[in-house]
Amino acid sequence: MAEPIARDVEGTAVEGLTGLIDAGTVVERLSTGAIWSEGPVWLPELRAVRWSDIWNNRILQYHADDGRTIVYSDAAEFTNGRTLDRQGRVVQCSHGRRRVERDHDGEVTPIVEQWNGLPFNSPNDVIVARDGSLWFTDPAYGITIPEEGHPGEREYRDQYVFRHDESTGETRPVIMDVEAPNGLAFSPDEKIIYVADSSGAGTGIHPGVGNAHIRAYDLVDDRCKNGRTVIAIDDKVPDGLRVDTAGNLWTSTGYGVGVYDPAGRQLGAIRLPETAANLCFGGADGTDLYITATTSLYRIATRARDAAV
Ligand code: MG
Repeated sequence: MAEPIARDVEGTAVEGLTGLIDAGTVVERLSTGAIWSEGPVWLPELRAVRWSDIWNNRILQYHADDGRTIVYSDAAEFTNGRTLDRQGRVVQCSHGRRRVERDHDGEVTPIVEQWNGLPFNSPNDVIVARDGSLWFTDPAYGITIPEEGHPGEREYRDQYVFRHDESTGETRPVIMDVEAPNGLAFSPDEKIIYVADSSGAGTGIHPGVGNAHIRAYDLVDDRCKNGRTVIAIDDKVPDGLRVDTAGNLWTSTGYGVGVYDPAGRQLGAIRLPETAANLCFGGADGTDLYITATTSLYRIATRARDAAV
């Protein structure tokens, strides 16, 4: 699929973000034609962004050097979020296989498929801590929305955030009080973990509970303590999120991307003509922000870079 790159796209705007995005910087649309774009990761060796087109059950890849977008996989089993592990290998969530898995040059192998003998719902997004452990969210979109996977039951009857240690094989829930845990990120010092709650879309499991906010937890010996709501989203729901080296939080929203300082004060916004689901930093120096927003992949140059990279 070859789509022309569109610069200064109609319906885009940058508000605020002084010091983070230079005045006059435009948003580019790099690729379009997807249905629901999610789970981007920058692949340094390929100089490419790989992301999920969930409803089309495929994985797309945009190559920054020549502007090409290719179909990386058209039998993806409804992958969603992805990241790189400490060795630079792709770790991704699969709704269809209800697991977290590794894609090593096209060879896909399971990492973790169950907890306490029960399958997950549909792992949504994953991050890797400095100790190599995998932290992932497990809402139920892949078993409740037919276009996002295969119909199924919440086997452990809830929606948790899990930590998996590949070196020991241990898997345990670490956050159990978020209605629909979705995107997640650590603070730069890994003393805080942030989790987006996207249950405002009516996807919580407790009647009458629906949230569109980001929660923060203090990490104490890999235990999550002192949970509190730090950011409320007023346009649709937060989904994927990233934290930059200054501790600012960049979250997807209905209007595009909202950026907040570590105290939760909004610094500004990147407005897009489509609902954004996720984002990642990439490019040669790690300061290009790539945003997966419904049908399209967008990019804007920033002065920030991901704290986790
Ligand atoms: Mg997500």
